[in-house]
Amino acid sequence: MARRTKPDWQQEIAKERISILFKEALKQAKAGNLDRANRYVFLARKLSMKYQVQIPKALRRKFCHKCYHYLLPGKTVKVRTNPKTRAVEMQCLDCKHINRYPYSKTKRSK
Ligand SMILES: [Zn+2]
Repeated sequence: MARRTKPDWQQEIAKERISILFKEALKQAKAGNLDRANRYVFLARKLSMKYQVQIPKALRRKFCHKCYHYLLPGKTVKVRTNPKTRAVEMQCLDCKHINRYPYSKTKRSK
């Protein structure tokens, strides 16, 4: 039994749970309960590994890929864009790791 994928319906449930966990993490982070928010990220990652589902792109930006802490703009992360690398840089204030997310064509105003 080297490789077994979970049934589709289980993966669907896992995905749904992951998005719920991130919603809760946001609520907790906003309320100042960062430990709890980090814990939700941890649980979401565990689900994604257990059920072999990917964390949706939009949600992957919400945590640091080094220390896996929840990233709340203005609180636990510094967000800026870098026109040179054409990427959004999100610096985790816990571990100082910079998470880069390239942006493609976006309307630019001068
Ligand atoms: Zn970090």
